[in-house]
Amino acid sequence: MSTTLTGAPVSPGRAAGVVVTMPAPVPEPPEATTGPSEADDAVSRLGAASRAVQDRLDALAAQATGTAADVLAVTAAMAADPTLASDAERRVRESGATPERAVWDAANALAAQLEPLGPPLSERARDVRDVRDRIVAELTGVRPPGVPSPGHPFVLVAEDLAPADTATLDPEAVVAIVTSGGGPTSHTAILARALGIPAVVAAKGADDLAEGETVVVDGGAGIVLRDPSDAEVEAARSAVRVEREFDGHGRTADGHRVELLANVADPAAAQAAVAAHAEGVGLFRTEFCFLGRDVEPSVEEQVTAYRGVLAAFGGRKVVVRTLDAGADKPLPFVTADDEPNPALGVRGLRTAVAHPEVLDRQLRAIAEAAEAEQADVWVMAPMVATTDEARAFVAACERHGLTRAGAMIEVPAAALRSRWVFEHATFGSIGTNDLTQYAMAADRMLGDLAALSTSWQPAVLELVRATCEGAQAHGRPVGVCGEAAADAVLAPVLVGLGVRSLSMTPRALADVAAVLAEVTFVRCRELAQVVLAQPDADAARSAVRRELADVLHPLGL
Ligand code: PEP
Ligand code: MG
Repeated sequence: MSTTLTGAPVSPGRAAGVVVTMPAPVPEPPEATTGPSEADDAVSRLGAASRAVQDRLDALAAQATGTAADVLAVTAAMAADPTLASDAERRVRESGATPERAVWDAANALAAQLEPLGPPLSERARDVRDVRDRIVAELTGVRPPGVPSPGHPFVLVAEDLAPADTATLDPEAVVAIVTSGGGPTSHTAILARALGIPAVVAAKGADDLAEGETVVVDGGAGIVLRDPSDAEVEAARSAVRVEREFDGHGRTADGHRVELLANVADPAAAQAAVAAHAEGVGLFRTEFCFLGRDVEPSVEEQVTAYRGVLAAFGGRKVVVRTLDAGADKPLPFVTADDEPNPALGVRGLRTAVAHPEVLDRQLRAIAEAAEAEQADVWVMAPMVATTDEARAFVAACERHGLTRAGAMIEVPAAALRSRWVFEHATFGSIGTNDLTQYAMAADRMLGDLAALSTSWQPAVLELVRATCEGAQAHGRPVGVCGEAAADAVLAPVLVGLGVRSLSMTPRALADVAAVLAEVTFVRCRELAQVVLAQPDADAARSAVRRELADVLHPLGL
């Protein structure tokens, strides 16, 4: 008999596969020593472990594709570097350290030397620590760190995934993701949607799933089936999603324009967005170019990264968001790691108070990249809370000749005071992920609060309405770039509330466009009134699904 776990549905699609769990972090080895007579044996174990790690990394890099292959190739090169091995050997022979302790200390010493050298060398510190953990894991018999590579397709089960882990996620191998933590707007959820991997987050009981058991995951329904029958496995394996194409021109049934844009984090994602016919980029998350970096990237390096995205879009619109560091996306060169409550801490635009020069250099880099490319570059700041912050940011952009300067509206204070914010900001983009987190006082990373963490909450939609009203008073356009924009059922509601563009993972464009194309603008406005009259999120979602049944059913949504 199969049993069912339920969680938040965050990335549609059905898949069946065996469970592979994320390993726990490799523990620091104790400061034990060995006797002098054991030194030769310790050195030969050390050599064997580092050769095994190199071979495995080489094999993994050869199998992987895209970013995963690049990351693994760099780690493999680091594992083959003799500096680490010879210092570890010296520590075994001179201080009698155990091989695992010797490699731990040697790696930490090497990382500490690399860190002050600036990029690209300082970046290698992270790779050194990764190699350290892999060699220690080999020596002590624990599982190596990072996303496992069992050599066959699998369902990845984790408490949650760190942004750095997700860089090595291979969509060919990971058929589905199930987490016990994380909310519908956590970065795990965003990434799964972007990669088109079916995913269920905040799944109660996911921590009990056993390595190697077969499960069926339905990412659209938020269900994980344990002990599925052969027929259920077969049905999931042969499930095919209806493939639609977006024609590159978003509009309602009566021709009201709604720009449909893409969220991207790097040049590869920009290419995917172009392939999906996105009209432009509504959110370029620049911090993702530099995650895991200990040192601020140089202006030249930033220009190169930004040009990679701008170049993909020719003369079209690209909204570049300045660094949104902090909370679940820490960047050590601007964020503290000891805040008691990081989501309410110094994050986003607030980091510019202590580090105005970092924002200034980023705006310089964006201006240089814009100058060198054809794209129509708009710039916006994350986490704007007050009118004064909006005014200061717009002024900083103007000093760099960036005249299209806007504000993300993701703090309820800015939504409620949008009439004042838009005196300065020339456009707005609503970050519904954080707006929901702050409106509902529900940490977006916490699976237990998934029911609160949805943009269907009428309170969140009231804030969207307030934002649009304030912007209309100054004729400023407002878009949505949070995950709400990728919800094809919510899209007409957002348009009815006054939103003029929707920015989403490229995979969602076709479904959102298909729904909008079937609904008139007047109907969108009626749907907006319907949701605002509902008592809670479930009632709002059900009411719209009922109203739109004639549109959603034929589209299979
Ligand atoms: C948001 O908060 O909705 C948003 C788009 O920003 P991020 O998800 O990167 O915090
Ligand atoms: Mg945000």
